[in-house]
Amino acid sequence: MCPHHPDATGACECRKPAPGMYVTAAGELGLDLARSYLIGNRWNDIAAAAELGARGILVPASGTPPEEIARAEAEMAVAGTLGEAAGRIVGLTARAAER
Ligand SMILES: [Zn+2]
Repeated sequence: MCPHHPDATGACECRKPAPGMYVTAAGELGLDLARSYLIGNRWNDIAAAAELGARGILVPASGTPPEEIARAEAEMAVAGTLGEAAGRIVGLTARAAER
């Protein structure tokens, strides 16, 4: 987690939507960001996907603002459940492997 707070420490590279923690995780875990998905229930959870070359899927929850859902529909993807998001990823991965 990001140990900073903008009001106390100023901006940092690891607080969402900044990509810092994803880049660190990719380095430490050997992740291929181009084959990675960011999934969350708020826009800030998935916003870094474009900058990272990854893909984002919003799974709205009761507190997800409608404008964030609309933005994700336009710019990334929206799934009804985490299971649906996982199913899409598996489907996309299977289709990519067939090519
Ligand atoms: Zn931070």
